[in-house]
Amino acid sequence: MPNLIWFEWEKCPDGYTIEELRAEYLTFGSHRLGRDIGVPTKSAPAWVSDCDVSKDNTDGRTFSSDLGFFDFPIQVLVPKSERIVRSQSFMEENPGAFMMFANCVNSVEKTLLFVKEFGYPHKTSLSLDARVKLLRRKPTSLPLSFPLGIYGVDEFYEKADKMAPDVINWEEAKLRGSYGSLIRWLNEQYVDFSEAVDAIRVNLHENPADRTQPPLFSITPRSLEDALWLQFKIAVANNTQLQQCTECPTWFAYGTGTGRRKSALYCSPKCSKAAYRRRKAASQ
Ligand SMILES: [Zn+2]
Repeated sequence: MPNLIWFEWEKCPDGYTIEELRAEYLTFGSHRLGRDIGVPTKSAPAWVSDCDVSKDNTDGRTFSSDLGFFDFPIQVLVPKSERIVRSQSFMEENPGAFMMFANCVNSVEKTLLFVKEFGYPHKTSLSLDARVKLLRRKPTSLPLSFPLGIYGVDEFYEKADKMAPDVINWEEAKLRGSYGSLIRWLNEQYVDFSEAVDAIRVNLHENPADRTQPPLFSITPRSLEDALWLQFKIAVANNTQLQQCTECPTWFAYGTGTGRRKSALYCSPKCSKAAYRRRKAASQ
């Protein structure tokens, strides 16, 4: 089956850190837009004041009053710089990205690895384009880090947890010859995905290799989380066999048509060489 997912996503190429959002960093009050939002206090570090939604924009998601209901401090993933790279090929290169997401459950280390590799599961509600336009309009008021927003680690776990149990039982479900429960679970768990009108878009794209050729048909997910669920469903339907690289966290496909056998240990020649060098160094 050709890859039908056409999906571009953004991440900070310099990586992410875990920071603590403390109660004293925010004060909550009503905003001229008629909503309660959190405004950074003087003691707030730069990564908090940089996300000050009261300054200029209308998106109250980042420090909405909902935050007041959380137990502080809240662990938060913060990009290390304001740089952003966008990439389109990573879904194709990582057929088991959804496995990495599911495996993040309750591990800060794995969560950081995932976000470093793929970016946040969601971005804030305004698109990057809209933010860049805002930036052009008022160059000093909105740092580029803001489009990435912040993402609480607890929320991250909640999402990954939802995906985790049956991802791990997937092989078992197949062994039992029973797809029924897995299909039901998949279709029920992520209701937003099937019900939200704009969850996915179905498009035609110019063929990038040759524009005189007929266009390509594609499915574009709304967010990384949508893309991962889509990838998971396609993997189940295609009976994709996945294995984790013994050298890095990447999951790779093996079996017919993948060019890899079940006995393959590494995701890439790079990892295979790294393992070889380590073994060699250890034997000396
Ligand atoms: Zn690897």
